[in-house]
Order: sequence, then structure tokens, then C-alpha cells
Amino acid sequence: MVFVPIKVNVLLWRVVYNKLPTRQNLVDRNVDIPSFLCQSCSLEVEDCKHVFVDCEVASQVWIKVVKWLDLPFPLIINVTELLYWVDTVSLPDLKKKVLEVIVLTTIWMILQYRNNVFRSPAMKRSGIFETLVSGVYIIQLFKKKNEIFGRKDKKYIICVFFDEPAK
Ligand SMILES: [Zn+2]
Repeated sequence: MVFVPIKVNVLLWRVVYNKLPTRQNLVDRNVDIPSFLCQSCSLEVEDCKHVFVDCEVASQVWIKVVKWLDLPFPLIINVTELLYWVDTVSLPDLKKKVLEVIVLTTIWMILQYRNNVFRSPAMKRSGIFETLVSGVYIIQLFKKKNEIFGRKDKKYIICVFFDEPAK
């Protein structure tokens, strides 16, 4: 994985090792909560796999991201598999780094959406992808210390993927 901010690394670790305070995990710890259903869709039990992979909020975002990048759609079963796909997908090195940044940012944003469902104003579902594509969130997340390849320019990141000259 590329160098990412510590907060993103910590999040990934917590997701992969199922350490996030999802409703399922809270119930398992005997925490009294009103429901163990997903905070985003209210349809299924909220565990890590649901939040980041199975929830329609997440699955719709992943479909859009993969289409956007014009990559063959991977079989995503859980976040570990998703990271494995990023690691093994056949791409030139620089594109792979950009893919890593985009995937990590997407995971981060899905969690932000889930955490903000009951806040006002709530983040829009469509906002996850739109903000991602605009590069704004990528930059906000990674801008400290020029964390993306030593460059700040969001256009550069996107151009790397689409073989466009950075303006
Ligand atoms: Zn859900």
C-alpha cells in the first residue's frame, strides 16, 4: 500500500480485524443500542462486511468507482479481498498507487457517510461518488505533508489514471 495518513491506516486495520464499533460488534459487547440494523439502509445487520461491501450504499459506490476507472469489476466478498484485488490487479505501478489512494479514500468516505446519517445536514449518498470524482476529498484526506507522491495537485492524481496531461 502507498503511504497513507495514519488515520486511514488505523481505519483499515480496524476494518480488516473487525474492530470498528459496528452495531453487530456493540451488540456482541452487550452494549444497549436501539437496533443492530445498518445505520445507512436499515435492512441488514450492521457489521464491517455489510458497511463496506454489501450495503447498497457501498456496493453502488464501488460499481461507480470501478466503472469510472474502466477496470474489470472484481469479485468483492469483503474488504480483505478488495485490498487483495488492488494489490494484484494488472496495472502500471503509478496507476496502481492511484488506485490504492482512490480505494482507501472510498473506504474512508463510506464510513463518513455511515457516521453522518443521523446528523444534519446528512451527507447525500450521491455525494460519496461525486466528491470522490472531484478529487476534493482525496486532497482533504491526503494533503498534509504532500502525502500523495509528494504532490498536492488533485488533477495530477486523476490524470494519472486517465492518461491525460496534468494541466
Ligand atoms: Zn446497509
